[in-house]
Amino acid sequence: MSIAASVLDAVRAESALHGGARVTRAGLRIGELSGVAVESLRFCLEVLVADTDLAALGFEIELAPWTRRCRACATVFHVTDARPECTACGSGDTEAAGGDQMELSFLELEEP
Ligand SMILES: [Zn+2]
Repeated sequence: MSIAASVLDAVRAESALHGGARVTRAGLRIGELSGVAVESLRFCLEVLVADTDLAALGFEIELAPWTRRCRACATVFHVTDARPECTACGSGDTEAAGGDQMELSFLELEEP
């Protein structure tokens, strides 16, 4: 629930930056590794915006894949079966490249 509340804080802050523009749609990117359950987040968001100034807000939630970057060949690959080896060259020397993020990817605003 607190995650949903911080998402709405971010949406409101962005709206304030645009002179109180009404936000009609918000896109979220949730990393596979973030531990956030997308369906329960969506439910919490809908509960929190009901009967508020954000009631018309629609959410598009996108799951961001767990990725790593190879230090040997610079390939960024999607980790499957929790295997950290590079899928292009097989090197085990790889670093985290994504999958734990939780961010707003876009907002659609209606100017007042
Ligand atoms: Zn590689």
